[in-house]
Amino acid sequence: MSASEPLVRLDAFGLYCPQGDFHIDPWRRVPRAVITHGHGDHARSGMGHYWTQRDGVPILRKRLGRYVPLDGIDYGEPLRFGDVTVSLHPAGHILGSAQVRLEHQGRVWVVSGDFKRDPDPTCAPFEVVPCETFITEATFAYPVYRWPAGDQVAREILEWWQQCSAAGRPAVLFSYALGKAQRILAELAALTEDEVLLHGAMVDLVAIYRNAGVKMVPTRPVSEFGARADFSGALVLAPPSAAGSKWMRRFHGASTGFASGWMQIRGNRRRQGHDRGFVLSDHADWPSLLQTVRECGARQVLATHGHTDVLVRHLQEQGVDARPLATPYGEAEQQDAVEDASDDVSEDASEDASEDVSEDA
Ligand SMILES: [Zn+2]
Ligand SMILES: [Zn+2]
Repeated sequence: MSASEPLVRLDAFGLYCPQGDFHIDPWRRVPRAVITHGHGDHARSGMGHYWTQRDGVPILRKRLGRYVPLDGIDYGEPLRFGDVTVSLHPAGHILGSAQVRLEHQGRVWVVSGDFKRDPDPTCAPFEVVPCETFITEATFAYPVYRWPAGDQVAREILEWWQQCSAAGRPAVLFSYALGKAQRILAELAALTEDEVLLHGAMVDLVAIYRNAGVKMVPTRPVSEFGARADFSGALVLAPPSAAGSKWMRRFHGASTGFASGWMQIRGNRRRQGHDRGFVLSDHADWPSLLQTVRECGARQVLATHGHTDVLVRHLQEQGVDARPLATPYGEAEQQDAVEDASDDVSEDASEDASEDVSEDA
């Protein structure tokens, strides 16, 4: 094997490390899979064995099955695959999310998975890992994407909730069930102790975050309320797939909002048809993508998903050897749709969620 051979290349199954004979976030069945985090486009079922960061273990078990062969490892803990040393480092994306560092004969490559640089009370902050090649996501690689601070967005959400409450209306906020929902609950905990109601698809995932020690506002499943419950003044969190479903009928007169990075684009806000759009993303915005490439010192950058063409062109103009890598990650994110919610809903046995399945099928 030549000394210049890539440490990671695309094969039909995923991102493959030939020197260590394992895959990262594979999309087809392979014997050995290192998983960056629990979102459905990165953690798929059917792998022979899984490795992921310790805090991500209950998330993977919840989504892939309780008995999947899975090892949890700590951030920074070295793992050997052949003569490749692998370690996981915080990606700041969701609980347990990791960048994968690969070291072989003095060369270091890093696979970012999904990541962000903004403070997030639900997970360890992103760590800059020096490397010669950085394989990065590019979900929001467009100069228009610049995130406001999460605590400021939480204040806007609270104000909207209070306005709805004063008007006697429920406030229903749509967000991804894994990561975004818990981040909202944690950001709100700095501002209020009032209870937030949860769609069935979010209940177990919120419990996993609580077990990991993440401080959030109190929560209660919507399913605990009777058929004639009055939800005026309540804030309800639900996955995007619940919008327009039969499940929504109980929130008569509700104001609806959507929390997503896509809400930065006016047209998306209009198209979604919600009363409010809150700009909150768990991905790196444009300035932090560029900052991260600079800080890790990579001479080569490979972009896996999102606006890869925009990022690649910009980096090439800066003299960086940049190329796209065509992966299927983030397809759902690109469609403004449902990164996670659809499979969460179908997994959920609760009465309210099963209604959703029939509507969404
Ligand atoms: Zn993700
Ligand atoms: Zn992703």
